[in-house]
Amino acid sequence: MYSPFIRLSIITCFAITIFSACKETEKESRRPNIVFIFSDDHAPHAIGAYGPKNNNPELHSFVKTPHLDRLADEGMLFANAFCTNSICGPSRAVILTGKHSHLNGMLNNDTTFNGAQTTFPKIFQEHGYRTAWMGKWHLMSDPTGFDDWAILANQGQQGSYYNPVFKSNKKTEESSITGYTATIITDMAIEWIEENKKDQAPFFLAYSHKTPHREWVPAPEEYDMYKDVDLPLPGNFYDDYSNRSSAAKVQEMEIARHMNEGDLKLVYPAYMNEAQLALFDAAYGPENEAFRASNLQGDALTEWKYQRYVKDFLRSVTSMDREIGRFLQYLEDTGLADNTIVIYSSDQGFYLGDHGWYDKRWMYEESLRMPLIIRWPGVVQPGTKNDKMVQNLDFAQTFLDMAGIPAKADMQGSSLLPLLKGDEPEAWRENIYYHYYAYPDWHMVKPHYGIRSERYKLIHYYTIDEWELFDLQEDPDEMVSVFNRSEYNEVQALMNEKLQEIKIQYGDTVILTATSKYHR
Ligand code: CA
Repeated sequence: MYSPFIRLSIITCFAITIFSACKETEKESRRPNIVFIFSDDHAPHAIGAYGPKNNNPELHSFVKTPHLDRLADEGMLFANAFCTNSICGPSRAVILTGKHSHLNGMLNNDTTFNGAQTTFPKIFQEHGYRTAWMGKWHLMSDPTGFDDWAILANQGQQGSYYNPVFKSNKKTEESSITGYTATIITDMAIEWIEENKKDQAPFFLAYSHKTPHREWVPAPEEYDMYKDVDLPLPGNFYDDYSNRSSAAKVQEMEIARHMNEGDLKLVYPAYMNEAQLALFDAAYGPENEAFRASNLQGDALTEWKYQRYVKDFLRSVTSMDREIGRFLQYLEDTGLADNTIVIYSSDQGFYLGDHGWYDKRWMYEESLRMPLIIRWPGVVQPGTKNDKMVQNLDFAQTFLDMAGIPAKADMQGSSLLPLLKGDEPEAWRENIYYHYYAYPDWHMVKPHYGIRSERYKLIHYYTIDEWELFDLQEDPDEMVSVFNRSEYNEVQALMNEKLQEIKIQYGDTVILTATSKYHR
């Protein structure tokens, strides 16, 4: 009925069809899994791989993050990663949407995130990925776009360091789990992969820690770290906030004046059970007694607070690092590591006594910076470092691009894929844009927006109409604003021009006044 040629063609087509289908299946099975390890307030200068920091180089030898350091050895470390709005909920909203705060609506932590909008996990789902978020969420509305989620529910979705309460899509009731929170979240992340790894579909998992958010409580294994040593003070610990806008003087985030007894562990955490408290008291009790007996005053008192705070911060980081190490080992033991991209980041940076502060919020370097480390076997050259200015605004498009999924046109970032592949893009952003809104709020940092190039940073505290200009090359610690200095006239004019342009580029028309939360 068919000529030999046609018969051969049919057979060939059939064979090609089968072969293509096999190829498609093979391609499907090769789509990478993506694990986004996320933490809260983890300043890059509290990660060994980031190296010593200018104003406190000696602190580096006390930072213990062997597992994150190993991740950097096996992947790419982004040395200049920045957030767009240095506070917990808003940074998460930017990551989910790929849009600045003024467009995704999450300006501050008092806002409830609108989960009906397009987010990258929803796009992953549309393209056959399984998705999950395990751990701290802090967007107040329930997660959307995730097949499974379990989020910290107590303390205003901040969660507690021990015995946290979880809300999940699997259970109707919130439930408390006994133990150390970083360990519990790690268990949940591993259990979720265990349940899903036999599925043909690739997965996106956010494994999201509360650590090292205030009030910095380590696991018992770390209670005795730094027991008999003094950590070095930053060079600008006794900053008097002169030579800058008045905003720096009227904040409420000084270690000397604003830390409370809970922060300092002079009052014990209320969420610990009797056995946990006994271990905690054995470690902290004798030091607290000695402190009370000593009646320290002035700088000696401030420096005692610094020691207690920074030690607890770094201990908590090491506790979390150990759990991340356990998670990475699990990926290796199960053979998943080869086809799983691992990203480590944190919602923003933090002050470790820099400027005499704790907390975040400012566009100053310590809180503007985020850590970003990406391991991608076969794509990212191990042990590489990238200096390009990147932002949390880029994460959604990057994650999608890693999976070969197109991003939405209205997302505002740039995929980091070319950088990850070691390419040198002809055009990369020359400036980043920042806008902090939360006022009045904890720590009373005045609202501000600004622009940062590789060398300069221009900030406008618009509710008090004061400006700062920093030359980061000459003054990396941002101790002296050179705004309105004649030698910087040209730079100032150029940066202001770029600031106006970038506000238009990103469509930011939200302006706060001193008296109201915000006007649009
Ligand atoms: Ca945070």
